[in-house]
Amino acid sequence: MATTTATSAVGSEWKKNLSAHVICPECKEFPPNLEFPGSHETVCGSCGLVLADREIDVHSEWRTFSNDDQNNDDPSRVGETSNILLNGNQLETSIAGGATGAARQLYRAQNKLSSEKSNKSLMAAYKEIGALCDGFNIQKIVADTAKYLFKIVDDHKAFKGKSQDVIIAGCIFIACRQCQAPRTFSEIFAVTKVSRKEIGRIYKSLEKFFTAQNIERTAIVGADAGFKQTTSTKPSDLCERFGTFLGLDYRTWNAAATLSDKVTKDGDLAGRSPLSIVAACIYMISHLCGVPKSAKEISNVVGVSDGTIRGAYKQLYSERDRLLTDDFIAKVNGDKANLPQS
Ligand SMILES: [Zn+2]
Repeated sequence: MATTTATSAVGSEWKKNLSAHVICPECKEFPPNLEFPGSHETVCGSCGLVLADREIDVHSEWRTFSNDDQNNDDPSRVGETSNILLNGNQLETSIAGGATGAARQLYRAQNKLSSEKSNKSLMAAYKEIGALCDGFNIQKIVADTAKYLFKIVDDHKAFKGKSQDVIIAGCIFIACRQCQAPRTFSEIFAVTKVSRKEIGRIYKSLEKFFTAQNIERTAIVGADAGFKQTTSTKPSDLCERFGTFLGLDYRTWNAAATLSDKVTKDGDLAGRSPLSIVAACIYMISHLCGVPKSAKEISNVVGVSDGTIRGAYKQLYSERDRLLTDDFIAKVNGDKANLPQS
């Protein structure tokens, strides 16, 4: 009994009806001799009767031979995604140049369109930002942020009197900070040739401008939303890069970062620039950890004079018992006896 119930349940399921055939009503030939001359009709191959027409063509519109079409036109019907860094949504039709007659007039008329023109100058600026960042080993995400910031300035027609180079330098500087990869004014100056004084000035006004715009950075930078007004660069943020340049290992530059945070918090070296603080801390820690770097070496990397480094270090040295606790020294595996007098 159980078997019968099961069979009837299965029997109620859909099954292909194999007793139905599509055959030509004229020749009643079996199996039917069907042909598909046009892709949208079915014809009997024996008598020529059209059995079905206006069928939906399910064939692909083209065939792709992955390598063959490299030099030919791409038959796909979609283009690139729209680039939010450019104006408009780039859905315009472009008319090929080099034609004659009416096509040529259309081409000219389209060329006069303003959106195209403004995109051209934007593209030129982006190219420059990209080139500067590439030459400076700045990550793509920072370069994209700089481009985005530049577009905001361009959209608002702000800072009209300023030269584009200065604005680009300012945007790169701010992008570096927003992406937590800060660079110093001197480093930006080294690539953009915009003077430190000018970068400092444009940086202040740009930051005020961006904060007022309350822009969302999600579009480019991802998870981190909103423009953060940054305080001046923390010395500890710079330790990793300078430490790496000097060939210091993680333990050492990390200790220098910890020390520079402590120095900043306690107000030792108050009034000195973050760079001097970093340089003096790296000098102290490198000696403490037994991988001494001379003031000259540090000066070459950080960009402050060795005299300044020695002066700042002298202040730190006089406070060494408070700054370098026994816990700290044990943690970094250092020795206070390694510290030079100056
Ligand atoms: Zn037939």
